[in-house]
Amino acid sequence: MQEYIQDALTFVREYGRPCLFITFTCNPKWPEITSLLLPGQNSIHRHDITARVFRQKLKSLISFITKSHVFGPTRCWMYSVEWQKRGLPHAHILVWFIDKIRPEEIDSIISAEIPDPSTDQLLFDIVTTNMIHGPCGTLNSSSPCMADGKCTKNFPKDMNNDTVTNVDGYPIYRRRNPENGGQSFIKNINNTDIDIDNRWVVPYSPLLSKTYNAHINVEFCSSVKSIKYICKYVHKGSDMAVFRVENTNVNAPPVNKNDEITLYQIGRYISSNEAAWRIFGFPIHERDPAVVQLAIHLENGQRVFFTNETAIDRAINPPKTTLTAFLNCVIVRDDFGAFARTLLYSQVPRYFTWTQTKTWMPRKQGSPVAACLNLFKSNALGRLFTVSPRH
Ligand SMILES: [Zn+2]
Repeated sequence: MQEYIQDALTFVREYGRPCLFITFTCNPKWPEITSLLLPGQNSIHRHDITARVFRQKLKSLISFITKSHVFGPTRCWMYSVEWQKRGLPHAHILVWFIDKIRPEEIDSIISAEIPDPSTDQLLFDIVTTNMIHGPCGTLNSSSPCMADGKCTKNFPKDMNNDTVTNVDGYPIYRRRNPENGGQSFIKNINNTDIDIDNRWVVPYSPLLSKTYNAHINVEFCSSVKSIKYICKYVHKGSDMAVFRVENTNVNAPPVNKNDEITLYQIGRYISSNEAAWRIFGFPIHERDPAVVQLAIHLENGQRVFFTNETAIDRAINPPKTTLTAFLNCVIVRDDFGAFARTLLYSQVPRYFTWTQTKTWMPRKQGSPVAACLNLFKSNALGRLFTVSPRH
């Protein structure tokens, strides 16, 4: 997990804050799912179908944004899939555009208001079905978002006539009240009709909501402060528990009390849907461009794996690391050495690829490098491990 957070922060270091933070949740009512259910079946009975359909929809959504460029050309992106307990999958997606979204453009991409049913009935239906939070608080104190009498997601939000971005974290989106042209509708909660207005709308993209008919929360990343939180949140990983197994049979062989490996096991909850996802071999994380991890160590200080048989050979000929191979490439190779000497270590993956044979080979694809014949530049990024000042 830590590795993925570091990769996300590598994107941030190179390209600044992401532009959009999107959460895409599987909709069990998609016709692609319901049409495949057998009589009497519910979507929860068929995790194979929901997993496959969500995978296809997620691929489609990523390609809609990064290949069809519906919000403009993209610089880089990454996503991470996770599951609610016993529940359906959702994906957290971060997208960087080549041209950053300007504050005055937010309203054209993200809305936190109920659409006008007289001009767009379809969007109104999708938003009122998928993008209304709760309601919670005094209207519905048993809502799952409530903790200590407060909504953990800070709903209901305040009404605002204009989107405001000079705040930490997310912007304050425009949420007009009914007197200023905002819409409202009646929702029945626990046999009570409740008037829902713009204070309860989860921010969404009208384009994405209409295209994918699902819960798709779209947020504009406005401050650097929120980035680290989002990068961590996107990759927070699955729930885990540490537990101990004990043999209560008195005749059992005694357990070595210091053997922590035997005494403690790390347990992980995997829901049926996640199990189906993993059996199908679908990815949990994807990103573009690639992030190449680069080793850092002192001379002869690299980690070496050996057995009794190979110990002497490993000590005499330690396997090359990305660092020793880089130094080697700079010093020894006549053909690319002169150019490689102009590069910082972290820039090497742009022009060279790390191979199975533990050497940096010049890239054969990408844009040609004017300064060096037969060398090509890719958009791969290098990431160095942090070195403590003590070292
Ligand atoms: Zn709430």
